[in-house]
Amino acid sequence: MGAAGDAPSGERVDLGTALVTPGLVDSHTHPVFAGDRSDEAAARLEGTPYTDGGILRTVRATRGTDDETLERLVEGRLRRALMAGTTTVECKSGYGLSLAEEVRHLRIIGRVADRLPIRIVRTFLGAHAVPPEAGSLDAYVRELTEEMIPAVASEGLAEFVDVFADAGFFDGDATERIGRAALDAGLGLRLHAEQLRRTGAVELGVRLGATSVDHLEQLDEEGVRALAGSTTVATLLPAPAVVLRDRLPPARALLDAGATIALASDANAGTYGGFGSMPLVVGLGATLLGLGATEALEAATAGSARALGRRDLGGLEVGGAADLVAWDAEHEGAFALRLGAVSPLRVWIGGEEVPLSG
Ligand SMILES: [Zn+2]
Repeated sequence: MGAAGDAPSGERVDLGTALVTPGLVDSHTHPVFAGDRSDEAAARLEGTPYTDGGILRTVRATRGTDDETLERLVEGRLRRALMAGTTTVECKSGYGLSLAEEVRHLRIIGRVADRLPIRIVRTFLGAHAVPPEAGSLDAYVRELTEEMIPAVASEGLAEFVDVFADAGFFDGDATERIGRAALDAGLGLRLHAEQLRRTGAVELGVRLGATSVDHLEQLDEEGVRALAGSTTVATLLPAPAVVLRDRLPPARALLDAGATIALASDANAGTYGGFGSMPLVVGLGATLLGLGATEALEAATAGSARALGRRDLGGLEVGGAADLVAWDAEHEGAFALRLGAVSPLRVWIGGEEVPLSG
C-alpha cells in the first residue's frame, strides 16, 4: 500500500505517513428496512428467542413505512458506510416480498444512489423469505420467476438476484428455478448459502455460475473444493457469525485451496446492524477468521469487487477507478490491532475527493 503520491487530478497530495488503500467494497448489505430488532437480538442471546421475530417482523414494519422515511433511513446507513471508508456498497431489497414493495425498495436505493457519491450496486432479494400471503413456496417461486424478476429486469432496477438458499427458506429446486429465471432475464446471481445447514447450495451456485455465494459458516472440505475449482467468489461475513454465536466459515481453507474470497458486512435488520463497519470486518477477517491483515484487506477490496463482478474496482492500478482512502493509520496491521477503530482521513471516489463532514 502506498503513502504519498500524485492525486488522480494530477495534483500532488502529501499524506505524510498515512496508509493508503483502495476504497473498501462492501458486497453484501440489506439497508432498506424500518423498525428496530435489538430487543429480539437480546432475547436470542439470553436463550429465549421470539417466536414472531425474524425477517417477517421487519417486512411488517417496512411495508408500513412511507417512502420519505425509508429513504432517509437508507441514506443515513449508506452515509455511515461512506464515512467509514466504503466506496462501493451492494444493497439488497428483500424486506418487501411483494412486487409493489420490492420495486418500491429498489427505487428508493436508486434515488439515494443519485444523491450520494458512494458507488451502489442493487440486488433483488425477493427470495428472502416466503410471505404468509403467498400460500406456498411453489406459488411464491412462480410469482418470483414469472412476475417479479421480469419486472425488475425490464425496469433496470437491479444487477443481481439473490436467494436465501438455506434450510427452511428456499430449497435446491426453488433456488434453481429462481436462479435460472434471473440468468434468463440477463441478471447476475448470488446466493445466501450454507449459513444454517450444509445444503449443497454452494455446489448449486457453482453449477449455475453464481457470481458469489455468501455466508458459508457450515461449509465442509468438499464445498471448499467445489469453490476452489470455480469462478464463484466465496463471500465471508464474520460479523453476523459473531452476533449469532455461530460457527465461523473456513476462510483459511478456502484461501489455501485457491478460492477467491471476499469480506463483507451483511449489515441488516436482525442479525448484524453495523452499517459503517467495514474497518471492523477487515479486523475480524484477520483476527477471527485466520487471515493475514493484507489478505483480509484484499478480500474487502479486490475480492469484494470480484464478488460484484467488478474487476475495475478494488485496486490501486494506474489508470484504475481511483477509489482511494487515506487512513489514520500507518500499516494495514492497524485493522487487526485496533479492531474497528480505524477511520479515514480522506476519501476519493473516481478521483474526486469526498467531503467527510455532514
Ligand atoms: Zn445477508
